[in-house]
Amino acid sequence: LPPMASEKDAALAAVPTDSPTIFDKIINKEIPAKVVYEDEKVLAFRDIAPQAPTHIVIIPKVKDGLTGLSKAEERHCEILGHLLYSAKRVAEQEGLEDGFRIVINDGPKGCQSVYHLHIHLLGGRQMNWPPG
Ligand code: AMP
Repeated sequence: LPPMASEKDAALAAVPTDSPTIFDKIINKEIPAKVVYEDEKVLAFRDIAPQAPTHIVIIPKVKDGLTGLSKAEERHCEILGHLLYSAKRVAEQEGLEDGFRIVINDGPKGCQSVYHLHIHLLGGRQMNWPPG
């Protein structure tokens, strides 16, 4: 994609697939990331194109078919809860006591560009509603 491509352009160009994504490379330490939180199941790192003073992406270390939330099945309930609780812990760690925003983009219309389930944690500025 050209450097000027927007996140929406990236999302519309992304092909929904269960193949490995750039997030696997981050998990496997093949490319660097600013990791802010990690346990045996999840990894949290700073977004490369931050949309707020704090913008962190929280992902499961094992994808297990979770290309996105829309692919979730009963067996994923535990990791889904763990991801959300981890997001809360990272928000605390980042000092976002005045509030924060959690976002999960799903599919082309949801502006998803990386097909490995992830939670966005955004904070450090006033958020608006409705989102764009
Ligand atoms: P989404 O558009 O919801 O699929 O979110 C994917 C996010 O991953 C975007 O906010 C990107 O900026 C971010 N991203 C893509 N590549 C990297 C990377 N190498 N390191 C950190 N964040 C990334």
